[in-house]
Amino acid sequence: MEVWDTIIIGAGAAGLSAAQYAARANLKVLVLEEMAHGGQALLIDRLENYPGLLEPVDGYTWADAMRTQAERFGAVIQSTSVEHVIKDGDRFLVKTTDGELVAKTVIVATGAKHRHIGVPGEETFSGRGVSYCATCDGPFFKNKHVVVVGGGDSACDEAMFLSKLASSVTMVHRRDRFRAQKALADRVLHNEKITVIWNSVVKEIKGTKSVEHVVLENVQTHEVSELACSAVFVFIGSDPQTAFLPDSVEKDETGSILTNLRMETNIPGLYAAGDVRATPFRQVVTAAGDGAIAAHCAAQYIDELEGKAYR
Ligand code: NAP
Repeated sequence: MEVWDTIIIGAGAAGLSAAQYAARANLKVLVLEEMAHGGQALLIDRLENYPGLLEPVDGYTWADAMRTQAERFGAVIQSTSVEHVIKDGDRFLVKTTDGELVAKTVIVATGAKHRHIGVPGEETFSGRGVSYCATCDGPFFKNKHVVVVGGGDSACDEAMFLSKLASSVTMVHRRDRFRAQKALADRVLHNEKITVIWNSVVKEIKGTKSVEHVVLENVQTHEVSELACSAVFVFIGSDPQTAFLPDSVEKDETGSILTNLRMETNIPGLYAAGDVRATPFRQVVTAAGDGAIAAHCAAQYIDELEGKAYR
């Protein structure tokens, strides 16, 4: 059976960066992705904080360039879904919906999936006004009033994007200030098309065929009000994607994989990179950095395993 030096699970910023570095280190690299390559970066309207990018690019263009670059160095990218990963002696068995694969190392770069608010109407109107992707669904709400839920970087970024399409944007945040980086928060606060309702949460999403209102509750006064809108964009964080890993992989209280500075998990040969791991700052640049470190250390691990380490 074919043995890959490294199987990278996930083709976002971390996975594609790991693929490029691993392939350049002459490893035999397979990248597995169940959705489109690019991960959360695909949702970025204007990637403007990646070092050296003088002109902002959209997430799709950037992800496509990363993929092409990794492939040019020899990485193979395959579309499949990973069901589980098991360590068997010195090898990893990666069970996918298309069969079993074998690798000497595995780099987990599966990122995180958006969270739901969990209120009545959210599931009912999903795809009919409730959305988790402004780039994908924003154009359907041109010149309409839309609501954005959340107060982090994603909510602020997406509110800015939506303000270019919608007639107006109302952000609903459960606290009295944003969690987002100051530069981004300031931009939102100075945007004339964005209004913020502080200290409030969405209790219900209402409508007939599609979204027509949200019911809001002020968390301090408990006052309840209704706000007419055509869409609700939810950006309240995300959960790391680790269901295919054995329970023995150590995680923190949020379910993010714990690694050391070499991106190694507690299982030798198993690495984690990007948003799926416990990290203080989740950015495209940090994910790409994680991927590079994971690939470099995986190559060293293989050398150790095979008695070829440079001493
Ligand atoms: P986040 O930083 O975890 O922020 C989530 C926001 O949603 C917080 O403001 C939180 O409120 C709120 N929230 C959480 N659960 C809620 C609930 N049940 N109901 C109402 N509100 C709720 O998540 P994120 O904004 O998706 O960002 C994730 C990571 O990606 C971060 O590390 C971020 O820096 C990074 N990112 C960076 C950029 C950029 O640099 N341009 C863009 C996007 C994302 P509290 O504040 O009260 O907790």
